[in-house]
Amino acid sequence: MSTFRGAGGLWEGSPVQEVAHPEGFARDPDRVWRFYNARRLNLLKCDPNPAHHALVRLERCRPRFSLITQNVDGLHRRAGSRKVIELHGNIWLNVCMQCASVEHVEARWRASVRPPEESGTSPHCGACGALLRPGVVWFGEHLPADALKEADRAVRSCDVMLVIGTSSVVYPAAALAQVASECGAFVIEINLERTPLSAAADAVLIGKAGEILPELVKRAEPA
Ligand SMILES: [Zn+2]
Repeated sequence: MSTFRGAGGLWEGSPVQEVAHPEGFARDPDRVWRFYNARRLNLLKCDPNPAHHALVRLERCRPRFSLITQNVDGLHRRAGSRKVIELHGNIWLNVCMQCASVEHVEARWRASVRPPEESGTSPHCGACGALLRPGVVWFGEHLPADALKEADRAVRSCDVMLVIGTSSVVYPAAALAQVASECGAFVIEINLERTPLSAAADAVLIGKAGEILPELVKRAEPA
């Protein structure tokens, strides 16, 4: 599961930080949209992996399950997860800069041979005509308050928290795991290598999430 910030070094010769930034968008929205359209087109070729599917099964057998993600690719929902808290937004949302109307365009992109936004110019709001932006959190922007609040509520009330595939260096992943731990949750870290969280975690499982999670979930499921 690639993270938003790991999206890959350069875009049209400039660091990705420049296009994933409010100032970059103000300067050249068409360029920023070309970047996100290219990412959307790539995502059309991606399918949820075994880790995504395992989390769907976990949600089905644990009604209080919440999924907090920093991924913007929408793959958790596509796999079938329902209670998804997206801390960095979702790349498939078009958000109006003026009237704040929000449209989820994934189905439209999947249905159309040539997506409307692919024309190379920025899309505009059907309601008010203002410029639309992708519904993701950019560098220098705050995380959505609603999602943060929901995530905080979930970690404070959970019995078990799985921290999967994150460096646990960057806020808020690190802070959320700490809060869960302080509130008495059993924190299980699943990652390719140890992180700053590892020492504080109750269990650390080193390896691929796509291999560990299906095994773990199998044990949580009713026989
Ligand atoms: Zn509008």
